[in-house]
Amino acid sequence: MTVRVRFAPSPTGIPHIGNTRTALFNWLFAKHNHGKFIIRIEDTDRKRLVANSQAKIMEILDTVGLREDESFRVGGDYGPYIQSQRLDLYRKYADQLIDQGQAYYCFCSPERLTQVRKQQQKQGLMPKYDRHCLNLTKTDTKQKIKQGLPYVIRLKIPDELDISWNDLIQGPVTINSQNLDDQVLIKSDGYPTYNFAVVIDDYLMKISHVLRGAEFISSTPKHIILYKAFGWPVPIFGHFPIILGPDKAKLSKRHGAKSVLDYVAEGYLPEALVNFMVFLGWHYQDNSAVLSLKQLIDLFDITKVRKTNPIFDISKLNYFNKEHIKSLTIGQLSQKIKPFLPHDYPETNLAKLVGLCQPRMVTLKDFFLLTKFVYPTAKPDPAEVKKRLKDPIVIKALVKIREIISQTDKWEPQTIEENVQKLITDHNWPKGKIYMALRLIVLIRPVTPPLFESMTLLSRQIVIQRISQALKAV
Ligand code: GLU
Repeated sequence: MTVRVRFAPSPTGIPHIGNTRTALFNWLFAKHNHGKFIIRIEDTDRKRLVANSQAKIMEILDTVGLREDESFRVGGDYGPYIQSQRLDLYRKYADQLIDQGQAYYCFCSPERLTQVRKQQQKQGLMPKYDRHCLNLTKTDTKQKIKQGLPYVIRLKIPDELDISWNDLIQGPVTINSQNLDDQVLIKSDGYPTYNFAVVIDDYLMKISHVLRGAEFISSTPKHIILYKAFGWPVPIFGHFPIILGPDKAKLSKRHGAKSVLDYVAEGYLPEALVNFMVFLGWHYQDNSAVLSLKQLIDLFDITKVRKTNPIFDISKLNYFNKEHIKSLTIGQLSQKIKPFLPHDYPETNLAKLVGLCQPRMVTLKDFFLLTKFVYPTAKPDPAEVKKRLKDPIVIKALVKIREIISQTDKWEPQTIEENVQKLITDHNWPKGKIYMALRLIVLIRPVTPPLFESMTLLSRQIVIQRISQALKAV
């Protein structure tokens, strides 16, 4: 069987990272099986469209490297790939169902439907369309259409039918049709509903596997009824577990889940985002392997996606970002850091600094924070300095260290470190406290790359000046 899968986003907003995982799993499944990855834009819910979101969705896919084989922009044999350009098709298939007696016109007003729903709720019944229009005669129907009454087309759901499928991820699932509404296929604006268009398109686009989030499980029986009504083969379904926030509620922007583009702007590498996303449901070893998209194509086994809902844990993203940063060459990392540096950033020792910071960076943004001390005018927080210089021994040590710094003939880290170390050991002074103070004064922050290596990237004069200024201030 040729594997053909699709990612079918609705351009109703910019999806957060959890939604992009669906695209990643589909893409990996396609590539692993030498199949095709198709993008279809599902834009039939006209009220919910958000301008620009289609472009953003495509930008997200490009950013993480999920290139498609067929879509509105690269073409393909099964287009158009945007649902709003396929309206005639849907109408044709809806008419076929009406002719077969499996669908019907419904002229009920929204007010009536609300009334019915309220009544049912009052009686403790599940709200469902009461089939008021099911038995309209052909003549009645024609007349109402002629009068210009707005209508929808509904599917006649078979009564009391068990609908089963063997889900690739969830295992065997059975849902009884008793709980299903006579769903709308074509809305009063002439657009199809998601549930209708998705079936027509998956069939016409020869989709072999429908792989999507578990939130669509309850829609799948409606889809299967439609496949059966048309006499079409039913594709294989797989529903990915739902990603939860740390509070176990469905992951949302409220949990701080952002889009891939937001994370990239915050200094996360697309490679790390992919590595993080793949473990939101898929399992491999202890789920911490640092893997590239290329390696993932080989390794990705859809049967290793578990049903258990994964928890979104930002510390895992940080871990993968740190690891992917470490795996870059200095040259690659420098290039990636540059967009996060201000225009006036002094780049003299960039490669050396990148080397010093590389093992300490969580995001690309960290580099600037860690190396702000390279600005000749950089200053630490005076209150912090005061705090660190409370101990007279620290002050005494700094006076001596300043002396060592001005007298060493070689301006290089080892010599200075050895001399300072000797001074501290000889006097039995508190090393941690003294290094902390020196770090803060010279490198302006308590967290920095290695002290002496960084210090010697500054001029001797600046280092002496910073120590003197600090001593003067107390
Ligand atoms: N358009 C649906 C969405 O945005 C796709 C659902 C499906 O994959 O069938 O989530």
